Amino acid sequence: MIDLTLTELKDALARGDFSARELTAAYLQRIREHNGTLNAYITVTEEQALAAADASDARRARGEAGLLEGLPVAHKDIFCTRDVRTSCGSLMLDTFNAPYDATVVARMADAGAIMLGKTNMDEFAMGSSNETSYYGPVRNPWDTARVPGGSSGGAAAAVAGRLAPAATGTDTGGSIRQPAALCGVTGLKPTYGRVSRWGMIAFASSLDQAGPMAHTAADCALLLQAMAGHDDKDSTCVNEPVTDYCAALSGDISGLTIGLPEEFFPDDLDGRIADATQAVVRVLEQRGARVAKVSLPSVALSVPAYYVIAPAEASSNLSRFDGVRYGHRCDDPADLMDLYKRSRSEGFGEEVKRRILVGTYALSHGYYDAYYLRAQKVRRLIRDDFKRAFEQCDVLLGPTSPELAFALGSKKDDPVTMYMADVFTIAVNLAGLPALSMPAGFIDGLPVGVQLIGNYFDEGRLLNVAHSYQQETEWHRQAPALGGTA
Ligand code: GLN
Repeated sequence: MIDLTLTELKDALARGDFSARELTAAYLQRIREHNGTLNAYITVTEEQALAAADASDARRARGEAGLLEGLPVAHKDIFCTRDVRTSCGSLMLDTFNAPYDATVVARMADAGAIMLGKTNMDEFAMGSSNETSYYGPVRNPWDTARVPGGSSGGAAAAVAGRLAPAATGTDTGGSIRQPAALCGVTGLKPTYGRVSRWGMIAFASSLDQAGPMAHTAADCALLLQAMAGHDDKDSTCVNEPVTDYCAALSGDISGLTIGLPEEFFPDDLDGRIADATQAVVRVLEQRGARVAKVSLPSVALSVPAYYVIAPAEASSNLSRFDGVRYGHRCDDPADLMDLYKRSRSEGFGEEVKRRILVGTYALSHGYYDAYYLRAQKVRRLIRDDFKRAFEQCDVLLGPTSPELAFALGSKKDDPVTMYMADVFTIAVNLAGLPALSMPAGFIDGLPVGVQLIGNYFDEGRLLNVAHSYQQETEWHRQAPALGGTA
């Protein structure tokens, strides 16, 4: 069962090929066998999962099956889950049991999904390799000496390694798409405001967005259907009708215009990644799409602008972790100042501290105009670039990541090199657009991902283009050789 896609599992459960309990038990068995190596989960909720599976089987027997009825999923440990640890990959929240479920978690549970556990991630979602987690690095199932990408690296490794058929992730600058690319799965970052951020621990609030990660575009459509929609609890969550994403998957892309931004194919791009990307374009052309060359001149500024805006927002969001209300508290504080200082010094890791320092600096009096305000102006230029590009084409296409999965430890001590891992993904967040990464082949046994970017609220079209590609190709069905019995 574990090699089936989520969509196939849904049909198999409906036919009664197996029960939700049998399916859940099979994934729990996989987790027992392989989580020791991959470290994809921080917390496995075995008992709750089996109880939820029994309840799901009972609902189905009563004829009350929801959209995700009986389907196991893994939630990134950034989503609050009632009475289950929500660590955000940090010692700061190591003992934090959220008193409520995030909207995404609640909606998926209401649709019948079964939570297997909480996945590992870079601390507070800051990173591109999953090496900043307090719980240790995640390993890439295709080569356990390499990183899975980040920050949703646990989610990507869990899906790729068949430790879950689907997972939730969050994407502030690439954290769904980049690990999806490095692990060979499909991941979608929706339009900013399409999915509620309530109960999702904030990193950079104007950029953060939750989305699905699974084997196929059809699986992501199913998951997004359950996740998306207005939420009174998040004022940035838009009140627009939700598209029928599953119905959008006709596979027909004739007449579609694909824009190839020249900035996504720089001269120094790895030739093998460029070739794999062009091969995707040819498949889409065979299926009736046309190609146009476009330009996004300001995207070159996206990494520097992001590394002012994201840390600025993070420094403000993370001020709530003060050792008073929740989270780590130091022993025997001498006074209030000592409590703040030591709790934060002990609770946060190095990368998080770096971001807080940079962000506080960028927002401080005298530097605000020079850094923060200027970065916001760049953000506007980037948005305008995309707006012009979408006057000439329906979707944009390019590589997701400039590199394949890199060796564990190889960039850990060089933050700027690490920041460049998101050079193709960050502009999308600054503009608030939807984008997905899909498996597009292998180089030396490692997966390559291709990114599709859509106009605002055009998730249906993005998913359909990826679905169309997945009708022609089998990359999304490949499984790493982890072995095992389930
Ligand atoms: N790698 C980027 C960062 O470190 C993006 C992370 C994310 O999307 N959460 O900030």
